[in-house]
Amino acid sequence: MLVLDNDDTIFAPATAAGRAGVAVVRVSGPGASGCIEALAGPCPPPRYMSLRRLGFTPGDDETIDQALVVFFEAGSSYSGEAMAEFHVHGGRATLARMLDALAHIPGLRMARPGEFTRRAMWNGKLDLAQAEGLADLIDADTESQRKQALALTDGRFSRRISEWREELIVGLALLEAAIEFGEEDDVPEEVLEPVWRRVSKVGRELDQVLDAAVFSKRVREGFEVALVGPPNVGKSSLLNVLSETESAIVSPIPGTTRDVLRVSMDIKGLHVTFLDMAGLRATSDEVEKIGIERALASAKAADIRVFMSSADVDSLNVPVVAGRDDIHVWSKCDRGSGPGDINLSALSGAGVAQLVDLISARLSVRASGCGLAAHERQLEGLRRASDELKAAGAAQEEVCAAHMKYAINGLAGVIDPVDAVEVLDEVFARFCIGK
Ligand code: GDP
Repeated sequence: MLVLDNDDTIFAPATAAGRAGVAVVRVSGPGASGCIEALAGPCPPPRYMSLRRLGFTPGDDETIDQALVVFFEAGSSYSGEAMAEFHVHGGRATLARMLDALAHIPGLRMARPGEFTRRAMWNGKLDLAQAEGLADLIDADTESQRKQALALTDGRFSRRISEWREELIVGLALLEAAIEFGEEDDVPEEVLEPVWRRVSKVGRELDQVLDAAVFSKRVREGFEVALVGPPNVGKSSLLNVLSETESAIVSPIPGTTRDVLRVSMDIKGLHVTFLDMAGLRATSDEVEKIGIERALASAKAADIRVFMSSADVDSLNVPVVAGRDDIHVWSKCDRGSGPGDINLSALSGAGVAQLVDLISARLSVRASGCGLAAHERQLEGLRRASDELKAAGAAQEEVCAAHMKYAINGLAGVIDPVDAVEVLDEVFARFCIGK
């Protein structure tokens, strides 16, 4: 468990390591202005950039760098604390010298991963769901990931949670008043009607977000398209052409088994991982069979299967579960056309763009249905709240009130897990140092 020593003054580079025009080093905490004074002379007025010579020991002429220095007052900074930023030249040696100088200032220490954001949360600058969105935003490779992350970061998801809570709090107040002041043993149905209305409305909306979560998770983690076909039908050749055509994040991920090769790319703003089912063939070898079963399970779990056939190979002789959005491709069409949704040639490139368009169109429909929550932690909270509301709807009044309270508190925990230090540790461990 991380001890929250918020009185320390912390520092870290805010920009990625390596050669660059500028590297930004951030300092956050009560010693921020003193740190500027120690390295750069009198602290400039808040939010004004000042060009300074950075030196270290008084009386020593050593210049660390010429840098832009800026100071933010507590309450008006990213972390909510007093902060200093040093915009130094972005070379490795300059940055190393700067960090060394900071480490020698008494009371300063290097920040832990995500510690600036954690302090920002501590100071009420953002909630946990927004912090998770920020980590996603930094990791976002594609346009759809960026948009989804932004919806978390800018508080849209958190606002939805607050609205649901408010709705339920009003419902609970009505229910408790009815229980307390009701003259008869049974509370009349017309008094309870507004309570049930609220419970079922929030429950319905929660379920909608949960249903859409499959797609939100796919946007965040990537859609999967399986290339399915017998050996030598042209799967690897197609994968090569696709990864050359579609630029951006092409990254071969070593397959989990030798039977599945995974290659990720950016298809029109969506993160898509192609699975090459290399080993799909009928076999009597027991070990190979296990591998093939795994490959078939991956093909089944994929969002789209691209079934490939060609004139020079036999058709696929292992059964693969098909889905609504699957695509049938006739491969090696440079040697003659055949049946299928698309005739394609990895050799000439014919049909490749058409395949990309079709995949992108089918996945975009799914992505457009995505909701706001994509993190398992958030979904867990929503699922629990949804279950409580289902139980509330079926319960007697007092028990119903208890379930509503659990749902209200559970929802609060999604954006503000007050006591859950372990939860925070886990979320912030995903952050880089300097964020
Ligand atoms: P895989 O086993 O399904 O991955 O198939 P490969 O991509 O390794 O291709 C098998 C053979 O078919 C290789 O000799 C390729 O050169 C050839 N091939 C693949 N695609 C095409 C194509 O579009 N046209 C032609 N003429 N040959 C192809």
